[in-house]
Formats: sequence, C-alpha cells, structure tokens
Amino acid sequence: MSPDPAASRAGAATGVARPRRAAAGARLAAGLRAACAAALVLAAAPPSSAAAPPAAAAAPAGAPVDLNFDLHLDPATRRLQGHGTLSVRTAGAAALVLGRRYTLAATLDGRPLAAPAVHGEQQVWRLPAGCAPCRLQVEWQGVLAGLPDQSAQRETLGDLPAMADPQGSFLPAGSFWYPVVMTAGDALPASHRIRIQVPPGQRALIAGNTQDEREDADGYRATFAQSAGGEALDLVAGPYKVSERRMRAADGRELRIATWFHAELDTLSAGYLDAAENYLKRYEALIGAYPSDAFRIVSSPLPTGFGMPGYTYLGVRVLRLPFIKSTSLGHEVLHNWWGNGVYPDYARGNWSEGLTTFMADYAYKEDAGAEAAREMRLGWLRDLAAVPAGDAFPLAQFTARRHGSSQIIGYHKAALVFLMLRDQIGRTAFERGLRRFWQQKRFQVAGWDDMRAAWEQESGRDLQAFFRQWLQRADLPRLRLRAARRLKDGTRHGVEIELQQQTPPYALEVPLTVVTAAGSVTANLHMDAAQSRVRLDLPAPAQSVTLDADFRLARELAPGEAPPILRQVLLDAATRVVTLGDAATRAAAERLARAMLDQPPGSVAAAADGPRLVLGTTAEVEQWLAAHKLAPRPADLTGGDVAAWAAQTSTGARYAVVAARDAAALDAALRALPHYGAQSWVLMENGKVTRRGSWEGRPQTLQAAD
Ligand SMILES: [Zn+2]
Repeated sequence: MSPDPAASRAGAATGVARPRRAAAGARLAAGLRAACAAALVLAAAPPSSAAAPPAAAAAPAGAPVDLNFDLHLDPATRRLQGHGTLSVRTAGAAALVLGRRYTLAATLDGRPLAAPAVHGEQQVWRLPAGCAPCRLQVEWQGVLAGLPDQSAQRETLGDLPAMADPQGSFLPAGSFWYPVVMTAGDALPASHRIRIQVPPGQRALIAGNTQDEREDADGYRATFAQSAGGEALDLVAGPYKVSERRMRAADGRELRIATWFHAELDTLSAGYLDAAENYLKRYEALIGAYPSDAFRIVSSPLPTGFGMPGYTYLGVRVLRLPFIKSTSLGHEVLHNWWGNGVYPDYARGNWSEGLTTFMADYAYKEDAGAEAAREMRLGWLRDLAAVPAGDAFPLAQFTARRHGSSQIIGYHKAALVFLMLRDQIGRTAFERGLRRFWQQKRFQVAGWDDMRAAWEQESGRDLQAFFRQWLQRADLPRLRLRAARRLKDGTRHGVEIELQQQTPPYALEVPLTVVTAAGSVTANLHMDAAQSRVRLDLPAPAQSVTLDADFRLARELAPGEAPPILRQVLLDAATRVVTLGDAATRAAAERLARAMLDQPPGSVAAAADGPRLVLGTTAEVEQWLAAHKLAPRPADLTGGDVAAWAAQTSTGARYAVVAARDAAALDAALRALPHYGAQSWVLMENGKVTRRGSWEGRPQTLQAAD
C-alpha cells in the first residue's frame, strides 16, 4: 500500500512529500512577526480588551472585518488592480497591512490615511483604536513577481511572494496582496464579497461561495462571497479547463465538484472527481455537512500541496503521481472541516494537522487492514525515536510544519494522541465528540481545550490529565517490561508483570499480551507510577508477555523494537564504509557508497563500533560477516544479483550490507538502490528492484519465568 519509494522521493523533491494546508493565519502572522515586531507592539490591544483577543472571539456571523473588493488580474502583464471598501469593527488598536510592491490610495471615513511605516516586505498603516465601525475606501495596484525558476523551487513555499504568469498565478495570503486588517499579529476574521476578472482563457478562484460566474469575450468574471468570518485569503488563477459535476450534500444543498486542470491533465479529471465525491460523502457522514458550495481540485505550475477553503491547490507534477488520489487528496478534502472549517488557535497549538492525519492518512491504512495500520504506527514511533533530543517540543507548541521534527510531532505524535484517546473513550464517544466540536466551533477559532470539552461531554470523563501530559510534555513515555513471573495457586494459573517508566511518570493504559498454551490473553494495565506491578489470571501457564504488541501508545521505543532500515545507516554522518573484493569491485563499491550515503564517507571521525556500510562480492561479504561474528545473509533474501539489508549488532550498532555478484552488478544498482532507504532489505537484478520489504517490528517481549 505504501507508495513507490522512487515516486515518493520525487514528491519530496518537489516539496510535497505530504501536501499540507496553507496555514494562512500562521503564515500571515509569522510573516509579519518576522518582518515587523515594532508594528506589533504598536498594534497590541490595550489592557481593557486583552481579555478577549479579536482573533479568538471570531463569531459565526458579523465578523469584525467585511471586505468588498473588485479585482482585475492580468497574468500576462502581471498587473493586479483592486478597489473597494473595508468595514472594520474593533475595540482595540488595529493596523492595515499591504505588501510593499503595491501602491495604495485609501481614505478612512472620508479622510486620507497618513503615510505607512515600512517593515520588511510590508507597509503598515495604523488605524484608530475603537472602530464601530470604520469605513475604509481603498484602491491599490502593483506588478506581481514572475514564477520562480523551476530549479530554484524548494520546500519553503510558506514565504512565496504573489506571482503571476499565464501558466498560473498564485497570490498567497501571507504575501499581503490585498489590504489586511491585523491586530496583535493576527489577521482579523473577515467576511468578504470579492468580484474578480481575468482575461479570456483564464479562470480565477478565491475561497467562498461562487456567484454570478460568467465567461465571454471580455474574459472570466465571478464573485466569491462568504458571510462568516474567515482567515486571510489566497487567490489562484490559470488557463484552466473545467470539468464539473454535481452532488447532494448531507443537508440537501447542491454541491459542485470540479477539476480546474491544465489541459495536459485532462485525462486524470474523472478519477479525481470520483475520488473527491467519495471523500466528501465519507466526511459528511462522520462529521457533518460540507461547509462550502463547491470543492475544486486546482492544478498549479508550482510544486504546491495546499488545502484552501473549498479547493485544493496541487502541483501539476503532484497530480500526476498515482497515489495522490488515494492519500493526499482525502487529507486536503478533510481540511475543509479541520483547519479551514474550524480554525486552529495557533497561539495555543495547531491540532488540525494531527486530526487530519488521523482521520485521513491513518484511516485509509485502517481501511486497508490491521497490518497496514500497525505498520504506519510503527513508522511514526520510529520517526519519533529519531527526533534529536534537543529538537523535541510539546505538542501544544506546534503551529506549522517547518522541518522534519516539527512534522513528526505536529502530525504523527498528534495522530497517536487521537488514537490513544479513541482507544480509551471508545469509537462512539470519540466520533460523537468530533460532531459536537464541529457543530459548536464551525467557522470559529478553536483550541485543544475546546476539543477536550466536546469529548468530555460525550464520554462523561475528565480528560484534563490525558491532554495535559500529551500536550505539555516534550518527552515520551519510556516504558520497559521488567519482569514476568508465573504464579500458581492450586489449579489456578496467573502471571505477575512488572513495568517501569520514567519520573515524573505518565498515566497510561498499557496493552499487555500474555501467551499461554491455551491461547493469548490481552489486558490493559493502568499505570501512573514509575513502577507498576500487575497480576493477571490465566487459563494456562504463561509462556511470554509482550508490551504494546500493536504499537498503539506514543512512547519511546526500546532498542531493537523498531526494525532496522537502510536509511538509518545512510543518514548517519559517522557511518564508515567497508569495501570488499578485488580492485574493480572495491572501486564500484566506493561509487555506490557515495551515491547511497547522505554525506561523503569519512566526513566525521567514526567510532570503531559505530555504524558501517559494507559492500562487496557476496562471498567476501559473507566471510567478513562471519569474521566479525555478525549474522549471515538472511535466509529469505535469495535470488537476484544484488542483495542489500540493514541489521544491528548485539550491542545495538547499526550496519547495512550490499552483497553483489560482481562489480558490474554494483554499478547497475547505482541508480535505483539509493532511493530505497526506507526499506529493511532490497533485492535487485540487472539494476532493477525485484523485491523489497521491512523486517517485522519486535515489541518488548519477556519469556515468563517461574
Ligand atoms: Zn494537512
């Protein structure tokens, strides 16, 4: 079920290994925070209104800002022109912020605004404290950036400027392409009614319900409107061919599902529409009616993977990847509920990525079967174990994905927290809690506390301690199985199990599996101390005890629990390379090692018992393994002219082995093998991978003693 590694590597190279939502609020806030801390101090609300920050007080109707704009975008000349009004109601100080590439003429209640302060890439106009309401008349224009050079495209799409091109235009919220009203670093929730015009052949889209859509000799015109207060807006445009169908929403409304694709993607449209329809039905049944009047899949010349309200904006190359329909698309559809339907409270932690990962990416694995789901959980735990100690942070501090560690915590640890919660309160209460949260917080900012309250009401349990430990602690439980003793009392059998964890302890429901001659018994041990002992009655003498056999707890894996994979050795700067065989073989081995390793071999001083990458002919490699008292080539790795596998010494040192028929086979492996780092083992023939796989995870198990 997992995507082809070569393809997923291509995905990573384009910056969408896992397409993400455009965290408009966060990007906007972060952009301004980074650029102009001074303006924020100016704009901070006075103490009288500090108790109710406007962003947190977003209401379903009567948003503090109402935008009414007319826009004209010409991708060929890259010129954007806009004019219209902003109506602002705010008790405290606020600021109007617009990117530096635009000129603005504005009046506030009929009087021209004073000159702006310039902070980094933004112009900032102070607005008077207390608007009830103020009316701003604005007219602005500017020339947008062109599309970046393909070769310059990197993962940092968060800081993109507004760009225009006949092949596609993208005006991200964080670029301040229209005047945004901000207070204390956050965009105030805004309702909007925006009319946009683009030249013939082009189409443009903004979040909101579509009204008055027209296409004629003058081009494409449409109005997008939303009456509830939403986050800052992105604008996309391009030479789209539209395929559209209708479906009935859970509440009876008619929904449009459409692809807005570049012509070259036309044949993919029907498959994407089918998939989108299925996802919409699935999530309506689980959560509630889809909150918009349309869902569109829009192609982008950039390697984007964004979910906006009512549409997802995915790169042309991304859309061509065969697994996107069955993975990322569902994730982006679900963001219409979590993230773009209920807004995370970024200041107190972004829960939306974890919940979306749990209900999309992970749920699809559960659909595929228990094994696939277990494999994903084990992968998450292995990733968590790989987060350097100094990089770990409490989940409550996650705002948006910035690097590998933040994704592992914000997406994967969070998904495990939702799994543990569902395991504890049961699926029914869990899903009812989701529906309650949706009904109560739709189109509002909501935090972890609001979710907790919904689940407390549905489960009748106090979940404070559960959420506190998982949100506030940066460490993970270090659970160890210490002892398993057989008990016998007359004809009755039992086992006494001892567990240990760190201080201060976590409160956990620890799944234990006891194997007996009469079958296995599973039990959950409630553990809230550093040491715990439990006695279980059994039908027959205990043979072995396994802790968390299915990897359902967020915890720090013990050495040996996660199967070794090639990447662990390939990424380690301390890895030493050992080449074996005649001169030609060793030269080929050296070339392959350079292609596989993340950094040049020998780039840091290596310890004698550190990680090793061993390459050579099969016979020489086997001799070397025997001489170093290491396990021989695993018996099931047969066939092919190259076998590669990852393993661990008895002291825990990692090593990877590449055993080849000859130098030519090593050279033939040069292209493909480096892409298979996520595997435990790979078999190749004539340069092609014929089989690959991951060793089983080995949860902590003790043989029961008398
Ligand atoms: Zn996401």
